[in-house]
Amino acid sequence: MVKNLIVVGNWKMYKTAREAAGYVEELIPLIEGCSASVFLAVPFTSIATASKASKGTEMLIGAQNMNDAREGAFTGEIAALMLKEAGAEFVLIGHSERRRFFGETDALIQKKVMRALSDDLIPILCVGETLEEREAGQTEEVLRRQIEVALKEVPTEEVAKLILAYEPVWAIGTGKSATAQIAQEAHAICKDVLGEVFGKRKAALIPILYGGSVTEKNVTDLIAQKEIDGVLVGGSSLDPKTLSEIVLKCKKMKKKAKEE
Ligand code: PEP
Repeated sequence: MVKNLIVVGNWKMYKTAREAAGYVEELIPLIEGCSASVFLAVPFTSIATASKASKGTEMLIGAQNMNDAREGAFTGEIAALMLKEAGAEFVLIGHSERRRFFGETDALIQKKVMRALSDDLIPILCVGETLEEREAGQTEEVLRRQIEVALKEVPTEEVAKLILAYEPVWAIGTGKSATAQIAQEAHAICKDVLGEVFGKRKAALIPILYGGSVTEKNVTDLIAQKEIDGVLVGGSSLDPKTLSEIVLKCKKMKKKAKEE
């Protein structure tokens, strides 16, 4: 059995709804017939347009954040149900920019994961260490804490809906991607921790993506690593041509499922 690689584009706070429609229309023919699974995490205001523009394709449109409550008096926030109705099928949770600039804690991220699952969005949980943590030899400890806290209440029957993204903070938006070896080592740690939380067989169902300065030039080395099941791409996803080059490189690299 082979498993598709996953390519997630994260537009961050770029592109209006009109630009989003043009982007999706340009991307579709460029990746036609590709075997990678393509996800686009777009701003809230672009979800409906991007989802309409991608109708009839296998591309998934999603959000970059959401509130952990079902609904309520939380001015300026957005609920999973609203995202779902607008056309979102997944949501990034715990992106390092949310942890860093908006004070998101592991405890809040845990609630968001549970909310996404209960309201039928695929959660893409982002974890990763800062440079200081890496230099202090704390990478494993940080990844373990982030994963264990965020996923501790996920019931085993929901495990197949999870996606994990390892995104070292020092590699995000810096142009300094982790080497394939560093990424592979961190993914192996994530896989071990997932195995301890859910048992090896169940944990093998969770794709682990690498994110941090992925480009069309370094993607081939990264996805060649045993435990890397795809990539989460920020800056290089803003141009549909560049994203399509990344997707097409993933096309050639179908991988064996880690465990049935
Ligand atoms: C990201 O936004 O998750 C990301 C990895 O950004 P970049 O590719 O620009 O480093």
